Amino acid sequence: MKYYDKLIFELSAPGRKGYSLPKNRFPRTELPAGQLRKDRPALPQVSEADVVRHYTNLSQMNFGVDTGFYPLGSCTMKYNPKINEEIAALPAFAAIHPLQDEESIQGVLEVYYETEQALKAITGLSAFTFNPCAGAHGELTGLMVMRAYHRSRGDDARVKVIVPDSAHGTNPASAAVCGLQVVVVKSKPDGRIDIEDLKPLLDSSVAGIMMTNPNTLGLFEREIREIASLVHGAGGLLYYDGANMNPLMGMVRPGDMGFDIMHLNLHKTFSTPHGGGGPGSGPVGVAAHLEKFLPLPRVVLRDNKFHIVTDSDTSAGKVSAFMGNFGVILRADAYIKMLGKENLKAVGQLSVLGANYIKESLKDVYKLPIEGVCKHEFVFDGLIDDGAHDDVHGATTLDVAKRLLDYGFHAPTIYFPLLFHQALMIEPTETESRQTLDAFIEVMRKIAAEAAEDPRILQDAPHNTPVRRPDETAAARNPILKFTTL
Ligand SMILES: *Cc1c(COP(=O)(O)O)cnc(C)c1O
Repeated sequence: MKYYDKLIFELSAPGRKGYSLPKNRFPRTELPAGQLRKDRPALPQVSEADVVRHYTNLSQMNFGVDTGFYPLGSCTMKYNPKINEEIAALPAFAAIHPLQDEESIQGVLEVYYETEQALKAITGLSAFTFNPCAGAHGELTGLMVMRAYHRSRGDDARVKVIVPDSAHGTNPASAAVCGLQVVVVKSKPDGRIDIEDLKPLLDSSVAGIMMTNPNTLGLFEREIREIASLVHGAGGLLYYDGANMNPLMGMVRPGDMGFDIMHLNLHKTFSTPHGGGGPGSGPVGVAAHLEKFLPLPRVVLRDNKFHIVTDSDTSAGKVSAFMGNFGVILRADAYIKMLGKENLKAVGQLSVLGANYIKESLKDVYKLPIEGVCKHEFVFDGLIDDGAHDDVHGATTLDVAKRLLDYGFHAPTIYFPLLFHQALMIEPTETESRQTLDAFIEVMRKIAAEAAEDPRILQDAPHNTPVRRPDETAAARNPILKFTTL
């Protein structure tokens, strides 16, 4: 451990100061005696240099897209252009207040409007709300729209949502939060939805199906048109989880595939840094016949002016304060305009190319359960068993993931989707160079060789990180959540 990695309280020395407050310009006001402190607060006493070094070192102990390759499947950890940050920090955008009148924020409303036009063109849907603040929040909003639609037709008995067994965990969770029952449809051995399993599930109790295409295994559901007509035929709607739209941009549109409702993750596909629960945006798009159910407020263009609509008899309700995380929407607008139509298409093509390149380069050492061309991501099922070790004594997917950290790469998503026991889900994204992909492939091959020679190297990994392998069970059972002097 480096000296400045210590806790800031441990660096403290009595009387040391980092900053002196200016003399108080205001008249002194006396607090009631009962509210006065008896002792000084136990704040660390440190110099400015101590503080800067401590926090700078702390920031280096973390891993982010700005420090290295981050192939976390179903997360789209792409590089986020820094110009977005400069634009989002402009005072005209950063210093506005949500209660300002329309007249004084026409430029801001224009950003909402233009981003909506772009997302409509990219997805083939008719209208978007920007109110949801995350992907899962978008799912809930979309399902609320679905319910409002069925209710408006007096179709109250539709309480089931069909979800494939490969779905992202938020899909069934959102359906449950929305008060709907989850019914699982099975995948075929090739990883795609089993239409024969779907057919008997479709009756008058089904509100809709939640899917993503390409699905969570990175595979395109080729029978999507047939699935859409079956679900529509049974009176249900199709919900599209568009958190990871990378591979489709400029290529195929969910609206054209037959989807009625979808969400996008602006903080994945449209380049806002994410992770750690930071601000997000999960706009929800709908086909024309569902527009009147979208939550409010929304921005509309009328008589050459932008207006905020707040009232409607048909809206599914309010889902957030004001109009979502504007800074994230602004970054998406900047990103879309910077790339333009042609380059957005290249995002799709490059993200698919990168994933296939890694898959083909490693499938002789890692188990590829489903052969064929993938989209932006794919899943390995652990190391190919060399016969010398079994799962207990050999190296598992967790060990491979931990060992990658020693080599300076973030681990892929592991043990998800649940279809495979040793799932290792890799999504390189389009922002990585051939050289970075080659370096990753080389390290993955090296790790496979280490596993064959001496699996303990992997089982004891990581060896070089500030924190070694934590005991996850103990951390969950006995969390230490407050500072104690060591
Ligand atoms: C990330 C993700 C979500 C959830 O998005 P959050 O913003 O984390 O709520 C939903 N579906 C898929 C496929 C995702 O990758």
